[in-house]
Amino acid sequence: MVKTSTAVHPSPRSRVQAMKEYHPPLGNRDALRLDFNENTIACSPMVCEVLGQISAGHLTRYPEREPMERIVAEHLGLDVEQVVLTNGVDEAIHVLFETFLESGDELLLPVPTYTMYEVYSSATDARCVAVQAADDLKFPFERLLAAITPNAKIIAIANPNSPSGSVASREQILEIARRATQAVVLVDEAYFHFHGETVVDCIGTIPNLVVARTFSKAYGLAGLRLGLLAGPVELMRWVRRVLSPYSVNSLALACLPAALGDAAYIDRYVGEVLAARSEFEAALDAANVRRWPSRANFVLVEIGERHAEFVRLMNAGGVLVRDRSSDPGCDGLVRITIGTRQQMQEATLVLHETLARLRTGRGSQ
Ligand code: PMP
Repeated sequence: MVKTSTAVHPSPRSRVQAMKEYHPPLGNRDALRLDFNENTIACSPMVCEVLGQISAGHLTRYPEREPMERIVAEHLGLDVEQVVLTNGVDEAIHVLFETFLESGDELLLPVPTYTMYEVYSSATDARCVAVQAADDLKFPFERLLAAITPNAKIIAIANPNSPSGSVASREQILEIARRATQAVVLVDEAYFHFHGETVVDCIGTIPNLVVARTFSKAYGLAGLRLGLLAGPVELMRWVRRVLSPYSVNSLALACLPAALGDAAYIDRYVGEVLAARSEFEAALDAANVRRWPSRANFVLVEIGERHAEFVRLMNAGGVLVRDRSSDPGCDGLVRITIGTRQQMQEATLVLHETLARLRTGRGSQ
């Protein structure tokens, strides 16, 4: 039992008092994990080999980021000063917002999108300006351009976006960066490997462009917490001031060269997911389930008013999926991660069963 008392406790900042609690539904995930867009099987065996060789002595040392930032920079064709490793992209977002957002500033956010942008911005004194996508959930390019004011300080674009799987084109991103030179344009390429298009090559030439990447998705290392920001030296310098020098742990750093080095593993995994996505999309179409075109390792589907029951029945059938109904403009929508073909064939069976139960009204029995 947690002890509580009637004593008066110190208050946090008023911004923090106004923050909503965010608890991702992580409890008891011993099933087919199609709920968090993780890799659904494993990381590269080369990474496991490195992990197996970590000595106790290795753990006694504080982790040193810089040598690994050099390796990442080389991998991305950048200079080491243009790359900052972080404790997952979540920390990259948090630190970037803490570095740039203050009172009077605006965060421009095309929505629906990844939840943590709004969470981290709500801890700052900036105002979050949501730019709603239309019913097709395509990137709201024109509306975003129209929403740019001199106060826009960060524009956060997940590309591909979650939960929709839609994308912004390179031309659109570069036009936004040109129109909002006072703002950092953050392009979150967490799902880059499934899309294959990037703006990393524009870093340095576009003075306000910053790209985020993660090792949580295709690389299969969500538990290690490893991400990065890449951007102009002049911006990364400020980010480094705010970031803890030790936020990326030594296990994650040790695994990084092996993860980056095993390109064949990534190619195999991504190829498998893309094949599985086509098959699963065909199954959704055959079952008359509306879906949104996706360039990522997940598909957003329309279930309608019985979305919560759908999620419950899928879970009961051993397949975890994510209800996105409370996202802006997503009423009745559920997101399903794409795993391997075999996993998606299993998921399709449970999907058919679940839809049949919902359609015949046997859902809640
Ligand atoms: N960005 C997007 C768009 C995501 O969907 C996610 C994970 N769900 C993240 C960032 C977080 O990545 P990480 O695990 O590296 O913190």
